[in-house]
Amino acid sequence: MSAPVMVGMQLPDVDVWSERVTVALGQNPSLFTGPGTNTYLIGTGPERMLLDPGQGVPGYLPVLEHAMQRSGCQRLQEIVLTHGHPDHIGGVRAVRERFGPLRVSKFPWPEVDAGFADLELQTLSDGAVLRTEGATLRGVHTPGHAPDHLCFVLEEEHALFSGDNVLGVGTTVIPNQNGDLGQYLGSLARLLALEPRRIYPAHGPLIEDGVAKLREYIAHRHERERQILAVLERGPSEVMEIVRSVYAAYPQALHTAAAQSTTQHLRKLEREGRVRASAGDPLAARWTLT
Ligand SMILES: [Zn+2]
Repeated sequence: MSAPVMVGMQLPDVDVWSERVTVALGQNPSLFTGPGTNTYLIGTGPERMLLDPGQGVPGYLPVLEHAMQRSGCQRLQEIVLTHGHPDHIGGVRAVRERFGPLRVSKFPWPEVDAGFADLELQTLSDGAVLRTEGATLRGVHTPGHAPDHLCFVLEEEHALFSGDNVLGVGTTVIPNQNGDLGQYLGSLARLLALEPRRIYPAHGPLIEDGVAKLREYIAHRHERERQILAVLERGPSEVMEIVRSVYAAYPQALHTAAAQSTTQHLRKLEREGRVRASAGDPLAARWTLT
């Protein structure tokens, strides 16, 4: 799950983005995945890491094999996951059926991981280092979009695999269930402090200036917060009223996703003591400035 505004964007199925990064498109375009999940072959040797094997759609394996041929990758070393959302972990079983029982590692999220007990998931903690010929990955725990989210610094390029935290186009959905906007903003600040050059996102095209994109993402959230507060300054409002005002330029089909982001902003403001809700259910409540 990522960015609803990427609908219709086209990317090549296979692309070589650096001497150690080849992308294979996950073949799962949708309202929430844009062109599909970017799956990455990482390294320079005959055996490489696969970061995020996509959603598990049948058309993906031939694309992955094409990407391996094109980049000179003869075998997969292991599978590494940015997080446990279905468009990232869903393809693991099909890849293992094709290439054998590869090691799969991720940051733990017990509720999700329980559904993948057959994979014998290996734990990656914050700061975990993974190595293959020509590439070193360092995990950075970046919760907010998902509690188990890891980004990975690619040390050799001072670059970042950003998962769903930063996207090639559009913005990240912070789901009401298990998402946390406050944590997400903390994660963006942590990534900015790393001053990455390139960002390799989980959806959409390569980002050449990582620092500029992170600054843009942080500014975007602050602007949304300002817009939501401006609506409440005019009087108490329900979430959907705020959405119709703030997201007036977006198609109505996206308003449900926008309601999640808006609710996340309101919850963050509520924790900060700046707004309050008239009822426990955030969608049914009227929200007021304190
Ligand atoms: Zn996700």
